Formats: sequence, C-alpha cells, structure tokens
Amino acid sequence: MDSEILKQYAVSAGATVARIADLARLRGIETMPPDLLDGFRYAVSLAVALSDPIIETITDRPTPIYAAHYQRVNALLDEAALRVSRYVEELGGRAMPLPASQVLDVRNNMSFLSHKAVAVAAGIGWQGKSLLTVSPQYGPRIRLVSILVDADLTPDEPLKNRCGSCTRCTDACPAGAIRNVNTESHYASREEALHFERCVHHVREVCAKMENIGTSICGVCIKVCPWGAKKRAPAA
Ligand code: SF4
Ligand code: SF4
Repeated sequence: MDSEILKQYAVSAGATVARIADLARLRGIETMPPDLLDGFRYAVSLAVALSDPIIETITDRPTPIYAAHYQRVNALLDEAALRVSRYVEELGGRAMPLPASQVLDVRNNMSFLSHKAVAVAAGIGWQGKSLLTVSPQYGPRIRLVSILVDADLTPDEPLKNRCGSCTRCTDACPAGAIRNVNTESHYASREEALHFERCVHHVREVCAKMENIGTSICGVCIKVCPWGAKKRAPAA
C-alpha cells in the first residue's frame, strides 16, 4: 500500500496532517483493552487544526464557542478516521478507527489508547511540557485521532523536542499543574510531566460552574504555546 497516497487520501477526507506510527515504538503503552494493538503493525495518526480566532477567545478558562468547536472537530476526526479505515480495507488491509474522544475509565481519564502518544510516535509533533502534542506548524492547536492498521506501510519518524527553556504553559496553567520538566522523547508517565490530578480537578471544577460548556475542557495551555500562536517557530 502506498503510504504517501494513503496520507493524501486522509487529508482529502478532512485531516489537516496525516502521518504513520510504527506500533513497535509504542510497545508497552497502556491500552483498553490490554490486547487492543494485537494484530496491528501501524497506526495512522490524523490531526485537525483548531480555529485560531476561537482559541483566542480562551482567557483563563474555556468558552462556549471553544466547547462547540472542540466537539465539532472531534466529529470531523471520527468521520475522517472512518473514511481512512474504509480506504485501507478496500485496498486489502485491516483497519480499526478509534473514537477521537471517548473516555472509558472516567476515574483515571483513560481511553482506548493515547492519541497524543500515537501522534508523537508518528512525528506529528513532539511531547510538550504540557503533555500536549506540539506540531511545528500548528503548535498544540490540533485535535487527534488514530486508526490501527495492518497493511504494508512505511512509518514516519518522530520529531525532536523543541520546548527548550520555554515556560509559557507552566506559567499560565491556572492549576499549577505543569511541572516544567523537559523530555528528549517522551515522559515515562503523565505524572512525570504534570500534577495530573490538579489539572483534572481544575478542569472539572471550572466547567461545572460554567453554563453552555457541556464537556470537560480547559484550553489555556493550548492557547499560550508560542508554537501555535504564530504558526511558526518562536524567537530564539
Ligand atoms: S488543561 Fe488547563 S489545568 Fe490542565 S495543564 Fe493545561 S492549562 Fe493546566
Ligand atoms: S508552551 Fe513552551 S514549554 Fe509549553 S508545550 Fe509549548 S513550547 Fe513547550
């Protein structure tokens, strides 16, 4: 199967960026169920860029328009993932589209697998100090989905971390949740990067007090990252 044509198809199906992760890079990753990756060799990672004017409405908390946009982009990701899966199957491969946003374990905020980890393995972006996948073109202003695939594909390479000495997400986080720890490739656990419970508690508390949000989101660390704010590398 021609990997470049598959990625072009994914873009025509709605993705802003499409890359391929070798699942061997994700060996040991937590999945639900534990054998989720069995029988698959690759994951196609799709990113859809978020609207800059909508992200700019975020202050120290999310906004109703961001909540609606977040859900609409998730729907687009699900649609694109379904279309890519059908395309792979028409060409004789096996494919499983995973939901863009479906929490299976509410207590631990876990889903089938981490789309962010797949995107980092596929080279869509690096793992930022905020734990978000930071794309060189869009910063963390992206939403993600993954399609598990068994077919002959050529995987992409991960990117180098470019957070450097930046502390913008750490400084802006209203929960004080970001530890400001850098990583060369990926964090061993989310606790290494975040006081995760502080983030979850803050997001739930803020959203519970707001009308017209309808989902648990924040957006502050997405907005402030210089890699997304200017669609180019920040000044050195
Ligand atoms: S989502 Fe909000 S609370 Fe959580 S780390 Fe980002 S800025 Fe902090
Ligand atoms: S704000 Fe700075 S430290 Fe945080 S993810 Fe973006 S580049 Fe990395």
